[in-house]
Amino acid sequence: MTRNPNLGDMDPAEFRREAHRVADWIADYIEDPERYPVLSRVRPGEIAAALPVEAPLDGEPFETILQDFERVLMPGITHWNHPGFFAYFAISGSGPGILAEFLSAALNVQAMLWRTSPAATELEAVALGWLRRLLQLPDDFEGVIYDTASISTLHALAAARERCLPSVRAEGMAGRDVPRMRVYGSDQTHSSIDKAVILLGLGHHALRKVASDAEFRMRVDALAAAIAEDRAAGWTPLAVVATVGTTSSTSIDPVQAIAELCARESIWLHVDAAYAGVAAMVPGYEWILRGANLADSLVVNPHKWLFTPFDLSAFYCRHMDQVRAAFALTPEYLRTVESAPVQNLMDTGIQLGRRFRALKLWMVMRHFGASGLRSRLAEHMRLARVFAGWIDAAPAFERLAPVPFSVVCFRALPADPASTGVEIDSLNEGLLESVNNTGEIFLSHTRLGGRYAIRLAIGNLHTTDVHVARAWTLLQQHAETLRRT
Ligand code: PLP
Repeated sequence: MTRNPNLGDMDPAEFRREAHRVADWIADYIEDPERYPVLSRVRPGEIAAALPVEAPLDGEPFETILQDFERVLMPGITHWNHPGFFAYFAISGSGPGILAEFLSAALNVQAMLWRTSPAATELEAVALGWLRRLLQLPDDFEGVIYDTASISTLHALAAARERCLPSVRAEGMAGRDVPRMRVYGSDQTHSSIDKAVILLGLGHHALRKVASDAEFRMRVDALAAAIAEDRAAGWTPLAVVATVGTTSSTSIDPVQAIAELCARESIWLHVDAAYAGVAAMVPGYEWILRGANLADSLVVNPHKWLFTPFDLSAFYCRHMDQVRAAFALTPEYLRTVESAPVQNLMDTGIQLGRRFRALKLWMVMRHFGASGLRSRLAEHMRLARVFAGWIDAAPAFERLAPVPFSVVCFRALPADPASTGVEIDSLNEGLLESVNNTGEIFLSHTRLGGRYAIRLAIGNLHTTDVHVARAWTLLQQHAETLRRT
């Protein structure tokens, strides 16, 4: 019987053929991403303009679609898998993580209820338990996987609001007499905290940014003063967000002292360890999460620095019942009766449907093992120290922050020692643009203490001494050229 191409799925024989082709394509890509410029060179609008406005009326062979993927889309890809990717927080997916994504897509599991895939629900608890033990967090931290740290933190603050003002769930915040609530973070906290307070109806002014010290760590004395001042002015302190590995410089807030203050003041403590938290599994780095055992919640992102393909954020909370109190809601069609109590993941968050993300975390942890994960993280930190050493030894460059993990913040100095701050900033803006245009490396920037800082972030599994040395050579050469012009 001939197959009606307008019914059913892709022909199974075509699927098998194309699956092999895609697997080969991925293997080639992972083997040599350096054949592409790390930073895409397309102009805005170029990719969209190369594609038809209308969807095709008749289906096309997958081979043709793949050709267009290669021809039209690949030039518009910035290669996060390139070993010269040093921007933002450099990340890399990994073989086991990519294979897990294949399988997860194939299963197309939607893990809203235990029964809609018991393995997805139970593996999530197991994989998060493994990660929790690697980080030496206490067992009463229950875990749940969300897509991003932004969403994890949103849930943490929603739970804090639920604990502080449970009537919000039914009554909302508007048009009634509720206290103004305050959330505290340092002046280095991530913008996801701003977005969370906006979304939770607390208002952007609810976020009070506390001064940090010369090494960009939250000042506990300033936090205590801010809380006291706010209480006197009638605000209700709701939560403090301490960061382990801030986005700009990867500074580490003094979590222990902040936790003790929060305990005294009965304020929810959320630890944002999105990037750096995983480093706590490396011998000698356990201290970075000291005090986190006293926190109410914590987020760490395996998709940032644990070789798990984007997206996977691990949210841990000691009062998941508060998260459930904020969000659990079961319409009739989702009611189930099981033979024993089960977790329904839809109860621990805003979304109903959930991907089978735990599979990739589990496969990554199994494939590399704890020792493999530790040594890869330690190697990235070693590379960062090597690069920082070169910066420190070069009179024409200046390091702008300590290097506790795998990110180095620095700037080039102009030939004229009397140059103004604006001139130094402009030299470094030019330098960043210039090295990024080579296509060999991609770095990003921030501002630290008002100064423009170039960031070199190491987090890619394929980055070696050779790539870091090449980055240093390019930075020196391009800085020299700019100084002369
Ligand atoms: N927290 C910190 C410290 C970060 O550095 C970032 C992103 O870089 C985030 C939160 C937000 O992460 P996500 O993209 O997973 O929302």
